[in-house]
Amino acid sequence: MFADKDISKFNNIETPFYYYDTDLLQKTLQTCADAAAPYQFHIHYALKANFNPVVLKQIKEIGFGADCVSAGEVKRAVEVGFDNKKIVFAGVGKSDKEINEALDLDIFCFNVESIQELAVLNELAAKKGKTAQVAIRINPNVDAHTHHNITTGLDENKFGINSWDLTECTDALKASENLKFIGIHFHIGSQITNLDVYKNLCVRVNEFAAWFEDKGFKLQVLNVGGGLGIDYHNPDHQIPDFGSYFKIFNEFLTIKPGQEVHFELGRALVGQSASLITRVLYIKNGKKKNFVVLDAGMTELMRPALYQAYHKIENLSQSGVRPESEVVKYDIVGPICESTDCFGKEVEQPESFRGDIFAIRSAGAYGEVMASKYNLRDAIRSVYSYEI
Ligand SMILES: *Cc1c(COP(=O)(O)O)cnc(C)c1O
Repeated sequence: MFADKDISKFNNIETPFYYYDTDLLQKTLQTCADAAAPYQFHIHYALKANFNPVVLKQIKEIGFGADCVSAGEVKRAVEVGFDNKKIVFAGVGKSDKEINEALDLDIFCFNVESIQELAVLNELAAKKGKTAQVAIRINPNVDAHTHHNITTGLDENKFGINSWDLTECTDALKASENLKFIGIHFHIGSQITNLDVYKNLCVRVNEFAAWFEDKGFKLQVLNVGGGLGIDYHNPDHQIPDFGSYFKIFNEFLTIKPGQEVHFELGRALVGQSASLITRVLYIKNGKKKNFVVLDAGMTELMRPALYQAYHKIENLSQSGVRPESEVVKYDIVGPICESTDCFGKEVEQPESFRGDIFAIRSAGAYGEVMASKYNLRDAIRSVYSYEI
């Protein structure tokens, strides 16, 4: 990802900053679009992974829809120019205000996560004299085999409607005059790298679809969510295998004539296209530990502190300068007053010095969007590959 020209130019930019490789993003989006096209699959981009305006513009232009989890995201998607009729809105806790805002924008579909939400949505739509399209988010109890903090499709998770509540759910749908039921929705977790998980999901989707059809409900939409993972250990293997991913759904989902299959991808589309660029403030060599103290911390990239996430870390200033065998083990930490503010423990790096530029790779998803002002830190800027 990093040519020498980048590294010398990074030296003149105030750190830390997010660096976006917009060419790689474009290639990733195109690869995904091309892989989905033969099957006519519908892609919605999950805005929560990254709502940087430059990123959103590129994704909108490729023609994807938007997957939102707040009215703020719905409004942002519309502002950026995503087609209202390609916006879906999920979330276990949509407030009345959020539902009203989304109703006003005539979005494609509310992915409803509880029976009570159905009643509230029906009532609010009635007040506006509108009919809201809904898909029922079902919790399929499929193990995503990913980190427990980013698993969403098990019985113990808060998301979706459980199978034993579906009869009550269809009764509510029948009684709701201002709702139009269009399909079923699933999202079982994030950073899923074992594609067999998706086969299991397909089997469950088929079972639920058959259940609804038995009851006389027609399903226009099968929305299977997102969650496709990226390779954090090999960020230079940059583009996820969208071909194999879509092939599984084509093979294992029972798709009726006229039925649409929808996806909600976040991380896989944007994850590899950004790095957090940061500078070494201090080196602390101790008896037990050697520390590299960076000028970026959990306030800029929270994933390691939040869910022990791995990110590959590279010293761009020293790479290739010394023989590869001369390595030092460092704990690579940020400046924030929390012990979890650590990007990696015992990470092998070339001997590092104050002023060296480091890249924390694969930071395009759930990076910039999770930045916080904790410790009253300045917001950081984003730099795009076409600028430098
Ligand atoms: C977060 C989320 C996604 C996207 O997840 P990724 O792992 O980034 O692909 C899709 N659908 C819903 C409902 C989500 O909450």
